[in-house]
Amino acid sequence: MIDISQMNFKSDITIIGAGVVGLAIAAQVACQHKAVYVLEKNERFGQEISSRHSGVIHSGIYYPYGSLKAKLCVEGNRLLYELCSKHGIGHRKLGKLIVATSDEETGQLQELKERGLRNGAERLKIISRRELNKLEANVEGVAALLSPSTGIVDSHALMEYFAARAKEGGAEIACRKKVVGIEKVSDGYKVMVEESDKDKFSFATRILINCAGLQCDRIAELAGIDIAKAGYRLHYSKGEYFSVGGGKSKLVNRLIYPVPEVKFTGLGVHVTLDLEGRMRLGPNAEYVDNIDYAVDTRHKDYFYNSAKRMLPFIEYQDLEPEMAGIRPKLQGPGEDVRDFVIRNETDKGLPGFINLIGIESPGLASSPAIARYAAAIVKDIL
Ligand SMILES: Cc1cc2nc3c(=O)[nH]c(=O)nc-3n(C[C@H](O)[C@H](O)[C@H](O)COP(=O)(O)OP(=O)(O)OC[C@H]3O[C@@H](n4cnc5c(N)ncnc54)[C@H](O)[C@@H]3O)c2cc1C
Repeated sequence: MIDISQMNFKSDITIIGAGVVGLAIAAQVACQHKAVYVLEKNERFGQEISSRHSGVIHSGIYYPYGSLKAKLCVEGNRLLYELCSKHGIGHRKLGKLIVATSDEETGQLQELKERGLRNGAERLKIISRRELNKLEANVEGVAALLSPSTGIVDSHALMEYFAARAKEGGAEIACRKKVVGIEKVSDGYKVMVEESDKDKFSFATRILINCAGLQCDRIAELAGIDIAKAGYRLHYSKGEYFSVGGGKSKLVNRLIYPVPEVKFTGLGVHVTLDLEGRMRLGPNAEYVDNIDYAVDTRHKDYFYNSAKRMLPFIEYQDLEPEMAGIRPKLQGPGEDVRDFVIRNETDKGLPGFINLIGIESPGLASSPAIARYAAAIVKDIL
């Protein structure tokens, strides 16, 4: 193992952030290049957004046609099932239903179906109330959109896989290394790092990839980008979950979603199942200023009322606060949907500095496709 704190150490590629995105990219580029470093500020990888989500392998329904979200989600869906099957990573293609509870919502299902098919989502089908009752006897709705290629994945096993592949390819994942400064130098970047138990040190890298999740705008700022001007300022959107007890988890077989919220700030409180078959409701979507993962128990009424429309079997006492995650959104309150930003910042005077900003959902489902996309940018530079 090389000590990156050594004087004069130079890396080819440095990735800031070891969430699912940074690890997937490390796994992809480590096959092509030797000196690849992933710097992670926490004790272990995957402790932030990548461990506080629904774990859904989305199929690509919601996102604007031609957006990176649409393209990378559809490609990621296919790649993820392939690699999960090949490498024994826990997953289940259990399918999903977007359920309309009024005639007005039924019209929206048609729009979602058309958008999804155009994006490349597979085998979407609108089903009647009768068909819905046949598939899900305990779900109430007037019609639904069936997405058979939606599923769930064990995101920790996925990250373990990416980390192992990255290491096999010669990459190093260095934890407790917080990036605190970035300086452009003649053939790359000088990266200033703070270690919890040691002093600061710095080293040079030719390519620097920003996968810092909830801190990605700050990393862009450290590199000298005016994030307000670039439109890179993040807005945190908190999503809470309530678990559903009372032996109710066997009453549905698929992921059950409502028709999405206006402007897609969130997908609406939905039912997710994990690989152990546990049921939970969530996430809601609330803009917040700080990172705080406490679940506000006062939100229980909202969760109960949202779910009860589709799932009449749910009782108030079945719900218990479970956990929360924070979305790194570029879309501020009341604003239009924003796409992922994945780009080499040459036009900002920072060639070889690759930003990944606003990687909210479907970032997990898209992760293998995001990795390919970023690796193609790296290949163009080297
Ligand atoms: C409530 C919720 C539900 C979601 N549901 C889904 C879903 O069902 N399906 C789906 O596809 N996606 C979902 N997502 C989105 C998905 O979870 C994210 O897109 C994905 O996990 C983002 O991964 P990441 O690697 O970019 O970020 P992270 O996992 O947060 O990784 C970034 C890493 O960078 C590190 N870091 C930050 N600053 C520094 C620094 N200065 N120095 C060193 N390291 C640093 C952090 O410690 C962190 O480990 C959901 C997200 C949320 C919040």
